[in-house]
Amino acid sequence: MSEHEIAAPDALSRLRPPYKSVLDLIGQTPVVELTKFDTGKCRLFIKLESQNPGGSIKDRIALSMIAAAEREGKLRRGGTIVEATAGNTGLGLAQVGIPKGYRIVLVVPDKMSREKIQHLRALGAEVRMTRSDVGKGHAEYYQDMAEKIAAETPGAFYANQFANPANPLAHETTTGPEIFSQLDGDVDAVVVGVGSGGTLTGLGRYFAKVSPKTEMVLADPVGSVLAPLIKTGKMEEAGSWTVEGIGEDFVPPNADLSLVKRAYAIPDKQSMLAVRDLLSKEGILAGSSSGTLLSAALRYCREQTVPKRVVTFVCDSGNKYLSKVFDDFWLAEQGLAEQEQHGDLRDLVM
Ligand code: PMP
Repeated sequence: MSEHEIAAPDALSRLRPPYKSVLDLIGQTPVVELTKFDTGKCRLFIKLESQNPGGSIKDRIALSMIAAAEREGKLRRGGTIVEATAGNTGLGLAQVGIPKGYRIVLVVPDKMSREKIQHLRALGAEVRMTRSDVGKGHAEYYQDMAEKIAAETPGAFYANQFANPANPLAHETTTGPEIFSQLDGDVDAVVVGVGSGGTLTGLGRYFAKVSPKTEMVLADPVGSVLAPLIKTGKMEEAGSWTVEGIGEDFVPPNADLSLVKRAYAIPDKQSMLAVRDLLSKEGILAGSSSGTLLSAALRYCREQTVPKRVVTFVCDSGNKYLSKVFDDFWLAEQGLAEQEQHGDLRDLVM
């Protein structure tokens, strides 16, 4: 008999009666311990935000930003929600906003996966693609474009996850307490990425209140300005990176970097290998940003000299990246494949 089984009928009492809406499934995501990696003296846990109905951590902030805008009168019946997004915040906003009758207009940089764009359009969102290779201040930069569209559209609300206080608040009031309870109030470190900074700031604020020993650890892609800024205090020029949803070319108002105790800059190749390992070793299908978080978490764990309990995230589902990080040919084309895989692919091609 297997060690793992689907719950027998007598254990089914923990199942909930039918939900009224799929939106009631947002949050309360499970945590799994990773046991197949070398975690040194640490125990490493991963919270599966991929289990949210929109497949990412961003469902939480979509709910909170729309509720706050309605409460504050910034969003009225028949209004338009505009956002700049790597895709996931847009998915959350569309999922929450479209059934309420809002029009959703999203500006998405063109490096984001086809799966996310298809999912957005199928939900009924209007997607405007723009350049990934320009920075803040450029008319085609996704955030500048979204702000302009919102300013020119009557009845529009610019959700602006980068500065909207309802973003970190969602994590301070839901994600943080969930982690603390799931880890029995004993958490030494939380490893996060920064896209808007909502996760970092919300969790940092929550743990500062309930568990001052908990360290916030930043996982940042090489090319982003954040890890170098924390390490050297200097704002470098941004490079480019392939992982989606984390890494920045500026410091978003929602990112309180003073909360970060330790920062790691992770090369794309390492992120891609880590996320592939997460699937092949643990059976967890995660997006590319989760590879960056896992790599940083493993580095942090292996540096510890005393046992610690560390938690990180699967920020979104790997289903959104089947044509990218889970496609060996795409990885090889990007120069991100493992050396052996290069060899395999060359053999195939020859
Ligand atoms: N991972 C993914 C896949 C994302 O889309 C995002 C947000 N764009 C993040 C992580 C980062 O989270 P936050 O915006 O809270 O900093």
